Amino acid sequence: MRPILEVKDLSVSFDVFGGEVQAIRGVNFTVNEGEAVAIVGESGSGKSVTAQTVMRLIATPPGRIKNGSIMFNGRDLLSLSEKEMRKVRGNEIGMIFQDPMTSLNPTMTIGSQITEGLVKHQKLSHSAAKTRAIELLKMVGIPNPEVRLKQYPHNFSGGMRQRVMIAIALACNPALLIADEPTTALDVTIQAQIMELMKDLQKQMNTSIILITHDLGVVADVCDRVIVMYAGQVVETGTIKEIFRNPQHPYTKGLLKSLPRLNQSKDEPLIPIHGTPPDLIKPPQGCGFCSRCEDAMRICATEAPEVTTISETQMVRCWLQDPRAAKGAGMGKEES
Ligand code: SF4
Ligand code: MG
Repeated sequence: MRPILEVKDLSVSFDVFGGEVQAIRGVNFTVNEGEAVAIVGESGSGKSVTAQTVMRLIATPPGRIKNGSIMFNGRDLLSLSEKEMRKVRGNEIGMIFQDPMTSLNPTMTIGSQITEGLVKHQKLSHSAAKTRAIELLKMVGIPNPEVRLKQYPHNFSGGMRQRVMIAIALACNPALLIADEPTTALDVTIQAQIMELMKDLQKQMNTSIILITHDLGVVADVCDRVIVMYAGQVVETGTIKEIFRNPQHPYTKGLLKSLPRLNQSKDEPLIPIHGTPPDLIKPPQGCGFCSRCEDAMRICATEAPEVTTISETQMVRCWLQDPRAAKGAGMGKEES
């Protein structure tokens, strides 16, 4: 498989009144051609900052890209000019956000919002762009596309607006689609339909997808691989099968335990992960999950765990899996 996106050693901070928020710290991951990868974590874990940095959408200042590279189709996006980056956005990388109402222009018809990029980036004539817009609306399951083109965002329901956003994001046939919590604002049935649609389109168009979500439950049907983020770091990655059947990181295990299951009985409660993530103005010296981890050992508080390889596709950042831990030094159970 050919990698289409390679993020290496990426660190991004935000300068705020109280100091420097180290939002992401040494993030590494790859997305291959035609692959759908989920980035999962709770809010503040750095997943959106990671996506916005890939799109070069974080405001600098207060944001600061401190280190790293983002290779996309052979070019480092961090070295492109803003003008070159504008061509990449929308044309080569499409993006879908949580709330389609804020990303759609309320004063423009849906039709002109879809054709805008086609005329600008793909140099289509207006009539060819209109034909393509009708085709795209059909593809995302919007009935009566000829009529719908002339309507405004407020004429559409939340789910239909998100379908329009997907049509806009896919209009130029991007190699990569980044969807940041695309269904969070929608009700459960519509959520499932939108996820289903994304999966179908990804198969049809062979687009790579990064799906950002706090809900591990929605990724199993859509994605090939999962990246789990916590406190600005990647703490585990693996295939869907590895993450669901053989999770290694206590945080991943916690996320799985907090998911409702189909066969769940009423008296079997969901187990939330207690505690809160650490303050990223002063990230902990040891493991970021230490204060919430039931398996924490003495070393966890003082030394940050490094990445341990579990398989060709699975890796984890946790002392429990570190071969050095077997040797025993400082590995006593944390007294608390
Ligand atoms: Fe828990 Fe220690 Fe692993 Fe961190 S390194 S997740 S504290 S066991
Ligand atoms: Mg977010």
